Amino acid sequence: MEIKEKIRQLKNDSGSHSPSISTLLHEIPELDVAIDACFLSNPYATDLFMQYLNEDLIETNKLRDVLEFYPPQVADVRKHISQATGLSPENIFVGNGAVEVIQAIMHRFVKDSVCIILPTFSSYYEFASPDTQVFHYHLDKNDDFELDVEKFIKFIVDNKIKNAVLINPNNPNGGYMSVEELNSLIGELSHLDNLIIDESFIHFAYENIELFQISSEDHVKSNSNVCIVKSMSKDFGVAGIRCGYGVMGTDKVNTLLSNGFLWNVSGLANYFFKVYASADFQAAYDVVRKKYIMNTLMFLTELGQLKTVKTYPSKANFALVEILDGKSSFDFTMQLLIDHGVYVRDCDDKVGLDGEFIRVASRTFEENLKIIAAIKSIE
Ligand SMILES: *Cc1c(COP(=O)(O)O)cnc(C)c1O
Repeated sequence: MEIKEKIRQLKNDSGSHSPSISTLLHEIPELDVAIDACFLSNPYATDLFMQYLNEDLIETNKLRDVLEFYPPQVADVRKHISQATGLSPENIFVGNGAVEVIQAIMHRFVKDSVCIILPTFSSYYEFASPDTQVFHYHLDKNDDFELDVEKFIKFIVDNKIKNAVLINPNNPNGGYMSVEELNSLIGELSHLDNLIIDESFIHFAYENIELFQISSEDHVKSNSNVCIVKSMSKDFGVAGIRCGYGVMGTDKVNTLLSNGFLWNVSGLANYFFKVYASADFQAAYDVVRKKYIMNTLMFLTELGQLKTVKTYPSKANFALVEILDGKSSFDFTMQLLIDHGVYVRDCDDKVGLDGEFIRVASRTFEENLKIIAAIKSIE
């Protein structure tokens, strides 16, 4: 079978998420993947965490303890997150990746109806209970997929929808709602049962030259309907150890914990959260976060200059890119992969995207130069 056909098969088998790089390499060993621009993480943060892991666990031989013994229960793990964020542990629900938090919220608390913006991260509509009515709010290509906050609120109110999901910045387009707009949105939607705000990419967003970290987690204290979802996979580049958390009302956290989730977080994930809580790591992390944002800014600017594609505005670490030369997104993706070893996300399965789109992640500075050169050479 031709490489292209094998990949098409793997894509079909992996549902609404693309096959991971390890699946691709395992199934198609002849494939030479040099750059994974499909996965949306900060590679500099992975390097930093590896330094800690090496010093703390590998060189000291303590890794054995982490693997051999039970990790702390999640009620304990959240103390680290509390220390890192200043939030009360009672408001924190720790998940085996953010996907588990999304699943728990969608199954337990989202009843009757939910508003989901399209295009989006598919788990939100996939995990909605069968008896929950899903309303889709479509972002318009003609508006560069930017969300009009007033129209969005009106849509929710007019349709008497009980719950809403906002991903900020949104995946797959990177559209961003400012702190000011978000504050007013939270005020105007205080009548909802749940307003779920997914901040998995918020560490890459910025509003001023200082690049301060933005977060709306504090809203949970004064708005009992707000639930924040936070993945560690992208900003810290640690998807493999599966850690994420939710910030929500104490009653919701207690409901979830009284029904399970005892040891849903592994010893390695607990170790990550412990490191995350240390002032030393926080300071070093902020340096690599800012370095990566600057990198990404240059990368997105370069992408925006290319003539054969249109790059949509993004404040995340990736961009939604439309192919303008008549090629299908699958052919474009395959040419990038097979001829240049650059793996990007083909968006042809993304519900709510009409046209030929790929999603391209920012990587290291050197890799970004190669990604730009590869896209340029496809003509
Ligand atoms: C990747 C992603 C997640 C899932 O993150 P995990 O912590 O790896 O489960 C959740 N929400 C959005 C918007 C994502 O892009």
